[in-house]
Amino acid sequence: MQNARLLTTKRLEHNIMKRTIIAIISLVYAISCTAQFDKYFSNQTLRVDYYRDGCKGKETIRFKNFIAKPGEWAGSTTHLIDPFNYGAHRVMVVDATTKTPLYSRTYNSLYHEYIATEKGEKKVKKFEETVLIPYPKQAVDIQIQSRDKDWAFTTLETFHFDPSSTKVEKVNNQVEVRKLHHSGNPHNKVDIAIVADGYSINDTAKMRKDFATFVSGIVKYKPFSQHKEDINVWGVAAISEDSGITNPLKKKYLKTAVGSTFNSFEIDRYIMTFEIHTMHDVLQHCPYDHIIVMSNTDTYGGGAIYNFYADVTTGDQAMFTVTHELGHLFGGLADEYVDPGVTYNDIHDLTREPLEPNITTLVNFDEKWKHLVEEGVPVPTPIKKEYLKKVGAFEGGGYQAKGIYRPMVRCMMNTGGNFCPVCVEALEKMFKIYTE
Ligand SMILES: [Zn+2]
Repeated sequence: MQNARLLTTKRLEHNIMKRTIIAIISLVYAISCTAQFDKYFSNQTLRVDYYRDGCKGKETIRFKNFIAKPGEWAGSTTHLIDPFNYGAHRVMVVDATTKTPLYSRTYNSLYHEYIATEKGEKKVKKFEETVLIPYPKQAVDIQIQSRDKDWAFTTLETFHFDPSSTKVEKVNNQVEVRKLHHSGNPHNKVDIAIVADGYSINDTAKMRKDFATFVSGIVKYKPFSQHKEDINVWGVAAISEDSGITNPLKKKYLKTAVGSTFNSFEIDRYIMTFEIHTMHDVLQHCPYDHIIVMSNTDTYGGGAIYNFYADVTTGDQAMFTVTHELGHLFGGLADEYVDPGVTYNDIHDLTREPLEPNITTLVNFDEKWKHLVEEGVPVPTPIKKEYLKKVGAFEGGGYQAKGIYRPMVRCMMNTGGNFCPVCVEALEKMFKIYTE
């Protein structure tokens, strides 16, 4: 008994020591990363606006302008290089002289969605894009990159920026920003901005109510519910000339703050805005890592693009939709469903693993979620009663019925309910990038 207690005490001491060492290592890591940040960047934001023109296999970047965004840098000061690379595009900031990488983030785009549609095969279309980077203290090259046919990043265009000589614009926008859910300093929080769209001056009471519904949705499901204190939610109370949003199928064209519209890429309930530069203008005085446009219509709909923005309508399903879209926007998660109504062609290359963490071609399943599959569960996993609540690899996902596998029968990224353990694991890893 005595020995057992001694052993327990020793184990306890060992554990405390181990935890202390880990804490010290993390602290040293954070301090050295912050020193790296302070050496190259000041605590402000440089906004880079440009255009991406093209169709499938043909893509060009055109510079528009640099904008100094007021307020502090809302992103991380410790994780400067993107560890996940889930996106199809990347902004890479390098030292202009040594070419040392200083900051990177990957993201998807409207262009990336467009080239998966029939029109996008051949017809050139122009898209607006914006990236935010910490404000450089010395000359840098800002490389706008996309993946090549082997999925390696290649630079399409380089914007040179020298803080001592480059022309920087200012935006004059005074939209009211409200603290809807505040947890602390934007540096180590996930800052989500909700931008009101389609609210006229007569809709301010509904806007207040809808903001509250969206906040409830954002913190309702695990793991978001367990990270309430790691999240700030900001309400951007933009007032639109018209009430409601544009619906081309009903020949209803409205003047709204950021131009949300039904029928994006000819999918009825796919709601997006193409006015990306205006959207960032409206956000001028808000610190943000992620943008959710709140579209004032009670008709169900929405859409989200990883590290780019999401658009969600109000109404009965808003709480669920906002969480689902956050899975795409924040987590880089794929839809786990197959929907014959979605007009995409076969978008997955079955000879390699998709970039998203929650779908697999089984080409390299070890890299995906094999560690979460219990012994005795076969892979691929048949849809049988005994596996309905297990993690496996069920065929069908990412809009494709064959050759793509999803982790569970039910998930927030499919028909609803909670996030599956594979999605939770990916989201947890993402939280660390913002909060450490
Ligand atoms: Zn899932």
